[in-house]
Amino acid sequence: MADIIKLLPDHVANQIAAGEVVQRPASVVKELLENAIDAGATSIKLIIKDGGKNLIQVIDDGIGMTPTDARMGFERHATSKIQKAEDLFSLNTKGFRGEALASIAAIAHVEMQTRPEQDEMATHIRIQGSEIKFQEVCVAPKGTSMSVKNLFFNIPARRNFLKSNHVELRHITDEFHRVALAHPGIAFNFYNNGSELFNLPKANQRQRIVHIFGSKTNEKLVPVNEETQVVRISGFINKPEFAKKSRGEQFFFVNNRFIKSPYLHHAVLAAFEGLIKSDAYPGYFLYLDVDPASIDINIHPTKTEVKFDDEHTLYAMLRSTIKHSLGQFNVVPALDFEQDQNLETPYDYKDKNVVQPNVSVDRTFNPFKESTPKTPSTASYKKQSTDGWENLYIGLDSNMGQDEGFSSVKFESESNTGSFFEAHQEGLESIATTFQLRRKYVVTTIKSGMVVIDQSRAHQRVLYEQFLRNITVNEAVSQQLLFPLQLSFSKSDIDILNEIKDSLTSIGFVFSNINGEEVRITGVPPLVSESEVGMVLDQLISDFQMELSEDSFSQTDILAKTLAKTLSVKTGEVLNNASQLALVNDLFACKESRWSPFNKPVYITITENDIDKKFI
Ligand code: ADP
Ligand code: MG
Repeated sequence: MADIIKLLPDHVANQIAAGEVVQRPASVVKELLENAIDAGATSIKLIIKDGGKNLIQVIDDGIGMTPTDARMGFERHATSKIQKAEDLFSLNTKGFRGEALASIAAIAHVEMQTRPEQDEMATHIRIQGSEIKFQEVCVAPKGTSMSVKNLFFNIPARRNFLKSNHVELRHITDEFHRVALAHPGIAFNFYNNGSELFNLPKANQRQRIVHIFGSKTNEKLVPVNEETQVVRISGFINKPEFAKKSRGEQFFFVNNRFIKSPYLHHAVLAAFEGLIKSDAYPGYFLYLDVDPASIDINIHPTKTEVKFDDEHTLYAMLRSTIKHSLGQFNVVPALDFEQDQNLETPYDYKDKNVVQPNVSVDRTFNPFKESTPKTPSTASYKKQSTDGWENLYIGLDSNMGQDEGFSSVKFESESNTGSFFEAHQEGLESIATTFQLRRKYVVTTIKSGMVVIDQSRAHQRVLYEQFLRNITVNEAVSQQLLFPLQLSFSKSDIDILNEIKDSLTSIGFVFSNINGEEVRITGVPPLVSESEVGMVLDQLISDFQMELSEDSFSQTDILAKTLAKTLSVKTGEVLNNASQLALVNDLFACKESRWSPFNKPVYITITENDIDKKFI
């Protein structure tokens, strides 16, 4: 057999390597910004057009390149940053693989002008798909300007795979935040389609955070500082009361490099334990400085993961440092640290009087009577058509209460911690056609047996359909606020709000003003209480960031899902009888009552037959 193995031509190898390095425009932004930082720039400009699909330009005032280096830089494995393997253990540059420029040049039109300070003339190079089109001498300021145009021009499949400009811009902005936060000492400007998104002067850590995330951030920050032989920890955490319902401002930097670390994230969560609700996320900006020899940043091609020599020590230090900061700044009473969680009164019960649990059964109730039970009509729970559903009831036999058939089932007390359903209405609580099981399920009877309904999912379904209807038919009612709400957001959050403003208006939000970092709200949907507005908008922003979708159909869907998720009754909430009944009625008036908006089953039925079989 003839030999069949051949070496791949360079441009093919580069294209393949590019697949690893460049996933989307944001990856190019990251590489170029990092190169500028490695070149010792004090001021960096980032210019983007059309979500980076048509232009990404980075201009720096760093050391520049000589004519030969300018050409060499685009070769694969060409780097000025390491020479031998040992250098990997004393890295203090962002790059070291020498792959970025070669990869980018393989899949885009690249143009570079560069001049070292001491040279009089600059070099101008144009490369397309790894091919040098020209190299000439030109006049240019000191430093380097690199433009990347028509990304993936020669890989249509990759180009088609890119998301909308909005979405790509969001990825770029995330990347920009990370780099800018890691280097407060460098000035940054960021322009998108000709308008300035960020103008960040040289600053300290705190100022940089505030410049990026808005002036209201300042009051949220608690400083963190600790120095040991292993690590220096600095930065800020957000005060617990500002914890968000969604991930968002969570940043770890190790030796000024943004990293993701679920393990260290957990250490932070552990420090916040007991101070924030379990479904809330604390914000943090934490900078760890360690000996470069004690980490390995080589384990992930895009380098956001780091392996530490001694993770356990780091975990413990981080946790205690943050606890210390929280205590020192009077965020928690200092003595509370070791308090036994088991002894604490659950949050919801703190200010409640003790009440004797009572269960009342209306033994005279006749389910076949014409009049249907009145469901609570509250501002927050909209009654919907229940036609047909009540026909399914067979009701409970008059001598069947908690005494016989259900004696082993624990009835929950009536203390109403559910914020969503209003306190019981007179007369209603006596109808025992539903009961709540373990604060999680609502159980009710039907002709053929019984239904066990997941209360949270059921409510999600009800709200989801309601919001969808409101958005599509634009029939929303709005509840006028006596005093307008003024909320502040970061610039990129404001961008997202602007994108979804129309949909929000269609469900009842009224914005009198959105500008800079401030949003003024004068009306809210009846289902959203004033105190929930901030949380709801935060959640929406973060869901849109995650879903990253542009067509208006899915925008509506995300909106309805998010609102349903955020505002629904949760597992653990006690529902009184009237609320249970209302929920059941509303659920079965839904178009698709079987599945939650997140495609989870909402209820199960257990037929008499099923039960009979168990008794055989
Ligand atoms: P790496 O950063 O891993 O070394 P790159 O492909 O990103 O690899 O860059 C190759 C080389 O080109 C760098 O090592 C550096 O010497 C040079 N270079 C790239 N960008 C710049 C810049 N903005 N200013 C000065 N030199 C640069
Ligand atoms: Mg690089």
